[in-house]
Amino acid sequence: MTEPTLILKPGREKSALLQHPWIFSGAVATVSGDPQNGQTVQVLSSKKEPLGYAAWSAHSSIAARFWNWDIANPIDENYLEKRIMNAWKARTDLHNNPDTTAYRIIHAESDDFPGLIVDRYNDWLVVQILSSGAEYWKDTIVTLLKKVTGIDKIYERSDVEVRSLEGLPERVGSLSGGVPQDLITIHENGLLYRVDIVHGHKTGFYLDQRNNRTRIKTLAKGKRILNCFCYTGGFTLSAAAGGAIEITSVDSSAEVLLLGEQNMKLNGLATPNEWVEGDVFQILRKYRDQAQQFDMIVLDPPKFAPTAAQVEHAARGYKDINLLAFKLLVPGGLLMTYSCSGGVSSDLFRKIVAGAALDAGVHAVVLERLSQGEDHPVALNFPEGEYLKGLVVRKEEI
Ligand code: SAH
Repeated sequence: MTEPTLILKPGREKSALLQHPWIFSGAVATVSGDPQNGQTVQVLSSKKEPLGYAAWSAHSSIAARFWNWDIANPIDENYLEKRIMNAWKARTDLHNNPDTTAYRIIHAESDDFPGLIVDRYNDWLVVQILSSGAEYWKDTIVTLLKKVTGIDKIYERSDVEVRSLEGLPERVGSLSGGVPQDLITIHENGLLYRVDIVHGHKTGFYLDQRNNRTRIKTLAKGKRILNCFCYTGGFTLSAAAGGAIEITSVDSSAEVLLLGEQNMKLNGLATPNEWVEGDVFQILRKYRDQAQQFDMIVLDPPKFAPTAAQVEHAARGYKDINLLAFKLLVPGGLLMTYSCSGGVSSDLFRKIVAGAALDAGVHAVVLERLSQGEDHPVALNFPEGEYLKGLVVRKEEI
């Protein structure tokens, strides 16, 4: 089979030679063979040396995404099966115990599967397709996922705005095995959570925070904890299981708080916890005005800056909540603070938190740096895959 070809401009091959998976439209000299949106193209240097295979995106400023850099390995069902097997084996090796039944199986570019997310929730898979290349192979991907994992209930949650950049409409619905009739119960490090894969955020649960939820278990003992942006109680349950004496959990969505409450009961956790519906920015101010104090505060806000363009606005948001949190902490208290914004680097995030401490009149030290779990790996050739940054900071006693 001869694929259409994409030839790079002279002097624009560097990123491809470093095996970065994205080819920006500005680097493309010519495309021949009239590829359909998502179809595989053979990538050639300006001197016509073959560099690998990529998926053509007809509408995006990322004009193509490399599948591989190996001209001997064309993209077909057999090749995609090997990639899925590799990712599945990595995850089942990592999570070879019944205590954790939900994890990411395919983490897009970092699993050499540009634009494809596949998460496992017990006996369901949830698929999110973000690129034209993954969309082009969708039926094959579904067939192969069933074959490789043995799981035949597959639901699609491609209801994400970035699809419009690829000229793809949003889509949700069954891909195999119908629609779940009820919430799905998962195990995560010994705790049970009910997950709504149909209506929940992302594919249903913030799987990337698994290790950090486990971490809070070991830090929570005897503490009064404020968990901001709590979703369905991830950090709340872990803190309760770790021996927190009192928790306040804040989120702007009434539905997720209800599910959080159910999750607490499901685990028989009796730690006093107040579920507070509201805007964290306002609630933190209210608590400051009331002179409330906590031993530990978790800040896990949604993405303030999906891309570099929104960084300034995001930085203001992060600084605001971190500054308020420093004021609400007792001396010696711990702040567990996160950013999942791709546009904010870990260095910038540390600087923002440092600025917040300075303005709050607090001396603070970083005890730990945290990141996404190992089921969200970061390919060495794709640093953009590292998006979740966390710090555990101690407010020093002066
Ligand atoms: N820590 C959670 C995930 C947090 S996701 C876990 O481990 O599962 C971010 C949450 O912030 C979402 O539940 C969303 O509803 C909530 N949110 C977004 N903006 C908010 C705001 N301004 N105030 C309060 N909650 C907000």
